[in-house]
Amino acid sequence: MNEMSVKEKQPRLLELFVRSIRNQRLGHAYLFEGARGTGKKELANWIARTIFCENPQDGNPCFSCRSCLRIDEGNLPDLIELAPDGQSIKVDQIRQLKTEFFKSSVESSKKVYIIEDAEKMTISAANSLLTFLEEPGKDTYLFLLTTVKENILPTIRSRCQIIHFQPLKREVMEELLLSAGIDSQDAELLSAVTNDLEEAKGLAEDELFHALKEKSWNWFKLLTSSDPMAFIYVPTSLLEILKDKSHSLFYLDLLLFHYRDLLYVSFGNEEAVVQKKQLPEYKKMAQFLKDSKKITQAIESILQGKQALNANVQTQGVLESIVLKNQ
Ligand SMILES: [Zn+2]
Repeated sequence: MNEMSVKEKQPRLLELFVRSIRNQRLGHAYLFEGARGTGKKELANWIARTIFCENPQDGNPCFSCRSCLRIDEGNLPDLIELAPDGQSIKVDQIRQLKTEFFKSSVESSKKVYIIEDAEKMTISAANSLLTFLEEPGKDTYLFLLTTVKENILPTIRSRCQIIHFQPLKREVMEELLLSAGIDSQDAELLSAVTNDLEEAKGLAEDELFHALKEKSWNWFKLLTSSDPMAFIYVPTSLLEILKDKSHSLFYLDLLLFHYRDLLYVSFGNEEAVVQKKQLPEYKKMAQFLKDSKKITQAIESILQGKQALNANVQTQGVLESIVLKNQ
């Protein structure tokens, strides 16, 4: 496990749990709620380490004792992790977990359960878990992880302490994407487009994202230079990749990022620019456009375009009207 990533992703929550553990105030059932990639699993895993660690230091695991190493290897029987089997977590899986629970403990009296995508529990699985939650053992800890807590049965929710995971900060996202081997230009843009780390990683590997990125930049250059090709670019280059409303909306979001960056440059606020590598280009464009009014007009026309798409206006008409408003 990457200890750094918990510290980077959720420093405040980590601090909170270190304190609870140090003061022996750790609860028995938690519901961790937050977007994918916000560190729910890492934090639960980190807490499990601290619980099992043979040599904890001031509320922190040592990362080198026998238990810590066995967790690294995924080989500590008293740490039980459960993820959906296919589309759902089935009652058999929970039963299995309860059997484990009632079996005499293998390693120690402590047991930690981590249930991923807990919203995918079937009703019977959830009900089965409920009986288990009613009387948690003294040394039993349960972590339910979910992206949407409303999808968890209220009877289960009410028995858990709910911990909300904040979306990652943009700079943190960018760092994590870079350390995952994603190209710096993509990391810059992706960290601005989404605060879901897993989604960002998925997009980085998606050919469509790269096509949308390239074509948003090309069209942006045509639009800002009032090139008549901007109009022709719609049927010749854009419609073939914008087959779906969600893609068109995403495309316009990318376009908005370019315009926002350009606006920052025109105000001399280069620090705020997302795509720093494009600074020289932005500067040329800002000089060409002279005043920022054209940029704010363009932003307005794109926002109107998004509204029109949401009202099910056809993509071609929406894009063409953006060109006409920016000539
Ligand atoms: Zn240890």
